[in-house]
Amino acid sequence: MDFTISPALDQLRQRIAAFVDRRLIPLESDPSSYDAHENIRIDLLSEVRKEARAEGLWLLQLKPESGGLGVGRVGMAVCYEAMNRSIFGPAAFNSAAPDDGNMMVLELAGTPAQKERWLAPIARGEVRSAFVMTEPHPGGGSDPGMMQTRAEKQPDGSYRVFGRKWFITGAEEATYFILIARTSDDARRGLTAFLFHKDQPGWRIARRIPIMGPEEHGGHCELEFDGLTIPPENILLSEGAGLRVTQMRLGPARLTHCMRWLGLSKRCVEIATAYAAQRSGFGVKLADRESVQLMLGGLAMNIEIARLLVMRAAWELDRGGFARKEVSMAKIQAANTLHQAADIAIQINGARGYSKDTVLEWIYRYARQARLVDGADEVHRMVLNRHLAGEGSDFWRWPVAGE
Ligand SMILES: Cc1cc2nc3c(=O)[nH]c(=O)nc-3n(C[C@H](O)[C@H](O)[C@H](O)COP(=O)(O)OP(=O)(O)OC[C@H]3O[C@@H](n4cnc5c(N)ncnc54)[C@H](O)[C@@H]3O)c2cc1C
Repeated sequence: MDFTISPALDQLRQRIAAFVDRRLIPLESDPSSYDAHENIRIDLLSEVRKEARAEGLWLLQLKPESGGLGVGRVGMAVCYEAMNRSIFGPAAFNSAAPDDGNMMVLELAGTPAQKERWLAPIARGEVRSAFVMTEPHPGGGSDPGMMQTRAEKQPDGSYRVFGRKWFITGAEEATYFILIARTSDDARRGLTAFLFHKDQPGWRIARRIPIMGPEEHGGHCELEFDGLTIPPENILLSEGAGLRVTQMRLGPARLTHCMRWLGLSKRCVEIATAYAAQRSGFGVKLADRESVQLMLGGLAMNIEIARLLVMRAAWELDRGGFARKEVSMAKIQAANTLHQAADIAIQINGARGYSKDTVLEWIYRYARQARLVDGADEVHRMVLNRHLAGEGSDFWRWPVAGE
């Protein structure tokens, strides 16, 4: 097995790391860098995005024919971690959710005309986008089969959408939306993926939902659909292929969450080790205490376990697989490791860790969503058990070259 990366990929990683260090980390400690929702101010974000793009640090996730760097999912795993050393990193490089996942699925599932109209402006950083799937009770959440928002086919071939969605990240800032709605009651082919523009009538943002953590730009919103009309050319793939589009989007998008969370986890270690190296108590430096060493050593190992699972899944995606169980394992491990990293780092930093003098408390509050978004831990464990039940001991089989 070859764990090496190419010199070119490592150079890209180093250039991203240098940009993060020079341009983004200093902004984190300046209160004027933040908007009202604890994210980077939009005008400042536009500035750093322009700089990142000018330096060629842009669109790693897309293929060259879509204007991207084409580093593949393995290359992204290497670089996204470096980006998210800063809490402002992913947005600066146009690698933040939900645009990141939306661009990847549009590249995979869009027709040439759809890519020109819907993908290219997001890729150029001109507009933001949102992915509209989850519904409040009694609608679809963990179980998409419970989805209630309906897209009713009209005699002229268009669809009219009625229903309610919530927790739609970025909705207040988004221009383009990918909507999953029910077009029939068929268990496998009942859902359809649609594209719509914010200026189309027949929908509204009912509220921006207040949350415990810092917010993505555009917040997490509740949406009401009351007759939004969508022409058939704005369907992704085909009517009834919504579940497939969802699977195509969520696999890679979940994995890029994990890549970013690993960057944040490593940042937590960085802040914890720096403090432990300088702070003493009872005549002993924190870094010299075995209890602290065990916490950091165990955490370093958990981060590495998550990195290996992420890489395994990225490799599987790059060779054309869906990587369902690999992504589920990576998602559980990376989300829980992020929790552990923020918690341990705050503990080692004492009261300083609980203050806003470091980004640890920001990361700690942000981390809580990681075990819920894009599939709760329990749902991924259920998926893993389904694989185990179906595959038996082949669950752990190594793919054989050439097969
Ligand atoms: C910050 C944030 C951003 C989000 N952004 C988006 C977005 O942009 N677009 C979008 O469409 N959605 C978004 N979501 C929604 C997210 O994807 C859902 O919260 C997630 O899929 C879980 O669905 P639910 O909240 O309805 O939980 P429910 O389905 O109500 O489940 C509640 C809990 O029940 C348990 N549970 C569920 N199923 C099982 C099972 N099979 N076995 C055991 N236990 C189980 C789990 O503990 C789960 O947390 C976002 C959510 C958050 C918190």
